[in-house]
Amino acid sequence: MIDITQFNKLRARSFNDQKALLKKLAKGQTVLCQTCGQAISLNVAVKEGEKATAQCAKGCTHIELDVA
Ligand SMILES: [Zn+2]
Repeated sequence: MIDITQFNKLRARSFNDQKALLKKLAKGQTVLCQTCGQAISLNVAVKEGEKATAQCAKGCTHIELDVA
C-alpha cells in the first residue's frame, strides 16, 4: 500500500533534484542512494511511452524521470 500523501511529498521535494541527478548520471558520475547508500543506476526507456527511471539496487530510491 502506497501512502499517496507521502509519495506526493517526496515527488515534489525530489522534482528539482531529478534534473541534477540525471545530469550526474548522464555524465557517468556515481550517485548514491540517500537511504541505503547503494549506487543509483539510470534505466533508459526502451519502448516508446516508457519513462526512464533512476533507482538504487534496493529500490528505496525510484525516480521516474520526466525530463528526456
Ligand atoms: Zn536505496
